[in-house]
Amino acid sequence: MKTFKLPQHFNRSALPSPEAYYMSIAQLTLIGSGEWRNAICPFHDDTNPSLRINVAIGCFRCMACDAKGGDVIAFHMKKHNMTFINAAKALNAWESHGSNQ
Ligand SMILES: [Zn+2]
Repeated sequence: MKTFKLPQHFNRSALPSPEAYYMSIAQLTLIGSGEWRNAICPFHDDTNPSLRINVAIGCFRCMACDAKGGDVIAFHMKKHNMTFINAAKALNAWESHGSNQ
């Protein structure tokens, strides 16, 4: 694997675990056990838990409104209408090095 020395970069390993993110930061109640959990979808007026969340990877998909994404960053971007960089910063996964930029 190549390592890029960028002045600013996304550090995926600094992200909270998907389970910690969805429960503590997104404040969803995860129903069930195992890799896939159900939750009330925050992207539409949900009454049945339609959102499926994979707590191993962080990907999510709503069976009712078709909101979906591949990880907790995608969820955070969608929920808060943020850019990737701002979502990464909000989750402490954006690292800035050097003082020039
Ligand atoms: Zn939905």
